[in-house]
Amino acid sequence: MGGNSPCASCKLLRRRCVKDCIFAPYFPSDDPQKFAMVHKVFGASNVSKMLQELPDHQRADAVSSLVYEANARVRDPVYGCVGAISYLQNQVSQLQMQLAVAQAEILCIQMQQEPALPTTPQLVDHPDDKSFFLPHQYLNFTSSSSSVMQEYSLKRESLIADWS
Ligand SMILES: [Zn+2]
Repeated sequence: MGGNSPCASCKLLRRRCVKDCIFAPYFPSDDPQKFAMVHKVFGASNVSKMLQELPDHQRADAVSSLVYEANARVRDPVYGCVGAISYLQNQVSQLQMQLAVAQAEILCIQMQQEPALPTTPQLVDHPDDKSFFLPHQYLNFTSSSSSVMQEYSLKRESLIADWS
C-alpha cells in the first residue's frame, strides 16, 4: 500500500500514508466508512495502539471485531454489541424452554400409549370408541402447552421489536 493513494485512515486524518502505515492493510481507500466508524467510537490513536500490541496474523481479526463493535455502538449507544448478545441469549433460553415443552409432550404421549398396548383387544370390542385415541389428559396438556407457546412467541415478537 502507500504509494500514490493514501489508505482510508490517512485520508480521513489528512496525513501522508507512509510505506509501513499500520492501517493501510485493513482500511483500503475504497471503503472510507469502515475507518470512519472505528475512528468515531475508539479513536484513531487507540486503534493504532491496539493493532501495534498484536502480532501481524491477529490484526485482521482484531480490525473485524473493532468494526463490528463500532457499528453496534453507533446503532445502539447504550448496549452496543452486548444488546445483540443478550438478545441471542434470550432466544436461546426461549428455544430451550420450547424444547423442554416439546420433550414433555412426547413423554406424555409415550406414557399414554404404553398401557394401551396390552389392551388392544378393546379396540376390536369398541371400534367406534375415539376416546381411546384422544384421552382427556392428552387434550388438556396440548391446549395448555399451546397457550404457553403463544406466550413465548409474543415475548419473542416484542423482543424483536425492541431490537430493531
Ligand atoms: Zn495509511
